[in-house]
Amino acid sequence: MKSEEKYDYLIVGSGLMGATFAHLATRSGKRCLVIDKRPNLGGNLYCEQVEGINVHKYGAHIFHTSNKEVWDFVNSIVEFNRYTNSPVANYKGKLYNLPFNMNTFNRLWGVTTPAEAEAKIAEQREEAIEALGGREPQNLEEQALTLVGKDIFNILIKEYTEKQWGRKCSELPAFIIKRLPVRMVFDNNYFNDRYQGIPIGGYNRLIDGLLQGTECRTGTDFFQPQYREWRKYARKLVYTGAIDEYFDYSLGQLDWRTVMFKTRVENIPNYQGNAVVNYTSHQEPYTRVIEHKHFETFGADVYVNPKTVVSEEYSTEYKPGMEPYYPVNDPRNSGLLQKYMDLAAQEENVVFAGRLAEYKYYDMAPTIERAMQLFGMEKE
Ligand code: FAD
Ligand code: UDP
Repeated sequence: MKSEEKYDYLIVGSGLMGATFAHLATRSGKRCLVIDKRPNLGGNLYCEQVEGINVHKYGAHIFHTSNKEVWDFVNSIVEFNRYTNSPVANYKGKLYNLPFNMNTFNRLWGVTTPAEAEAKIAEQREEAIEALGGREPQNLEEQALTLVGKDIFNILIKEYTEKQWGRKCSELPAFIIKRLPVRMVFDNNYFNDRYQGIPIGGYNRLIDGLLQGTECRTGTDFFQPQYREWRKYARKLVYTGAIDEYFDYSLGQLDWRTVMFKTRVENIPNYQGNAVVNYTSHQEPYTRVIEHKHFETFGADVYVNPKTVVSEEYSTEYKPGMEPYYPVNDPRNSGLLQKYMDLAAQEENVVFAGRLAEYKYYDMAPTIERAMQLFGMEKE
């Protein structure tokens, strides 16, 4: 170790990637310094307390995984509650259960058995399948119409997707919609994963637990000249910020989709009776309304707090200064990413990790898996 090197790792970013890597490294006796440009630790998992309720400031987060190692790992830091995601869709004032399941089909068509539902879906798909004439669906509209048929497409998919992506369904790639499961059972659980929940006491407890014993500095932007030179204090850099920013956007900027949140307090204990309500028509400009208390309080406990906090979500095109949320996986951005990755491969003693540095949409559990994998490679 060189004389100036006080740390094994300088970790830029205290999101789930940086925090998990720091946890694993600190636990193995490595010295880490974690810095984050935001005033808070935790990246997009950070929650703000409003009226005694944990408000998911950077978007609603539901932990779900089938990986027992990951589930045991997070539960060793903080216990998780029994929250099960079962969003409701509101189309012009009528409510439908998601994901598409027997409850949805009953509401749409009055069918009561799986056989009736299957017959109805077959009838609904017929026209679109004929129109394809044997070729593969070319876009999201064709994919959805041939998968679930016209009623579900028109009521639950078309306008929601257009609001979310800011483009027509006929101009979007087919693969986006493959993620929506169709179930012939009465089951409103959005995820198929074996484990899901929210940390009891909120996500900040998970982050604080992960970073316990690690030196952390907030309000510290790695690209400020006075902090950039901190690089020399560590043997290795773990960089979880945006990859194009690291290279000073020298090859151009990567595009993102982002979400804007309008959050307000309601002076009633229970606003919408569910954590997540999707608005699937163009009547409302927002895509979803989140009522945060339902992530952590259940049944009669919802009424203990006489107030509630709700956030409307507006899907928006990203502009500099906004939060980059979803990578745009079109040919221009994939090509540009490849060029940045070639530059990254030439950097010595730098690990590019996470959603921003890899320009890849990672859910939380895969982020932890990736951190475990990257730290595992450090030990080899
Ligand atoms: P981030 O959380 O973005 O952390 C990166 C950190 O780096 C930030 O704190 C940032 O301030 C910091 N940073 C960047 N540049 C610098 C710099 N120059 N100097 C210092 N610090 C810097 N996953 C699920 O499993 N379930 C969900 O329900 C879910 N919902 C989501 C909803 C939304 C709206 C979004 C965007 C994501 C959601 N995710 C969800 C994914 C989840 O947020 C990610 O898996 C997780 O945040 C990845 O962690 P990360 O550390 O890679 O990134
Ligand atoms: N989707 C939809 N109606 C809904 C919810 C989702 O049409 O009520 C579509 C939409 O195109 C979205 C995709 O399904 O982009 C994936 O949705 P999911 O909720 O799985 O992903 P997320 O929005 O969390 O990225």
